[in-house]
Amino acid sequence: MDYTKQSNTPTLENFWMPFTANRQFKAAPRLLASASGMYYTDVDGNTVLDGTAGLWCVNAGHGRKRIADAVERQLRTLDFAPTFQMGHPIAFDFAEKLGRIAPGGAAAELDRVFFTGSGSESVDTALKIAIAYQRAIGQGTRSRIIGREKGYHGVGFGGISVGGLVNNRRVFPQIPADHMRHTLDIERNAFSKGLPAHGLELAEDLERLVQLHGPETIAAVIVEPMSGSAGVILPPKGYLERIRAISQKYGILLIFDEVITGFGRLGTPFATDYFGVVPDLVTTAKGLTNGAIPMGAVFASRKVYDGLMNGPENAIELFHGYTYSGHPVASAAGIATLEIYAEENLLTRAAGLAETWQEALHSLKGHPHVVDVRNLGLVGAIELSPRDGAPGTRAYDVFVDCFKKGLLIRVTGDVIALSPPLIIEKEQIETIVSMIGDALKRVA
Ligand code: PMP
Repeated sequence: MDYTKQSNTPTLENFWMPFTANRQFKAAPRLLASASGMYYTDVDGNTVLDGTAGLWCVNAGHGRKRIADAVERQLRTLDFAPTFQMGHPIAFDFAEKLGRIAPGGAAAELDRVFFTGSGSESVDTALKIAIAYQRAIGQGTRSRIIGREKGYHGVGFGGISVGGLVNNRRVFPQIPADHMRHTLDIERNAFSKGLPAHGLELAEDLERLVQLHGPETIAAVIVEPMSGSAGVILPPKGYLERIRAISQKYGILLIFDEVITGFGRLGTPFATDYFGVVPDLVTTAKGLTNGAIPMGAVFASRKVYDGLMNGPENAIELFHGYTYSGHPVASAAGIATLEIYAEENLLTRAAGLAETWQEALHSLKGHPHVVDVRNLGLVGAIELSPRDGAPGTRAYDVFVDCFKKGLLIRVTGDVIALSPPLIIEKEQIETIVSMIGDALKRVA
């Protein structure tokens, strides 16, 4: 079926859409039919500039032939094979290639790779690895995880337990966790460029929670080095260093959730590299395969891996895995993606654009409804005042307006979040910002 033809638009009844107000959407749908480079085309033939790299995942831009070819080749050669007690070469090859660009460089030794099918699975996998590791080294009382208010770590039961967004938490039961405060502080940090200056003291929350629960009960602490889904919350200067020091002091593993910061978003291969702070586990997905085939990966340190390998011979060291762990077709997409990243220097390209991006975004300061602008690498946030005290309304209107005019942005609460493909050109940065400026005027 050619869905780019408007006459072929299907009925919308059956697909129960994720994270969507289904009734509202189906009354006024937005349907994307094709994509190339920086642009989508919707079912009506309108061009839409992609300001969000899909959902923070299409880092190399859309419609990459190299990925398509690799996927097709792999599908014809080996479509699927199990990775439980057997394997296939391409998953090992992909893991080896990932090991060479692992977060923190060679010295960090974060090069043991566990494959998953998504960011949520990567998070749950990392939490399980942390708890299993503590047990394996004789620290079996450590089962609690510390997360953060406003943290987003996907939608698995582990992820919602350590996450801190109320709508993800209120309906479902959770595993033992506790939460540090978030670091968003518009009062003191409004319109900071890059990392905020104020709020380092919030890292001491970790020490407070350690004292509250007892270090011998805590397996790990998980943070997004830069949180995205809550509306782009940046760590204050020195914050991650302090979290690392406290976790180390108490034998608590540190997990960086790099599902959105991994693969070049901040102008370095990983946020781990950007901040120069080395965790014990790093979760990834999204940019791992340029979003083309679902896949996630957890990078584990050799210390963690070896700790788990030291059990009795013939035992399964980590009783965990997915049917699609190391899926051959996803691995093929991933290898092709890494080749593109290397050839086009995409893992560091954002560094050269960050200044232009920052100045363009901050030009929106002064608009009556803009209360904050935040940026890091090729990530941006424009926080708006809610209309008539109703959270999210104005931002949602901007989102709808921008889409009609041909720009895809992402809205979370009162925040417009931006994360364009890393292939973006300077003129497109200007276009994104001027289109948002115009939309802000229209919805005022
Ligand atoms: N962790 C973080 C930091 C994320 O931003 C996301 C998704 N936006 C996830 C985990 C979950 O990933 P997925 O939707 O692939 O399960």
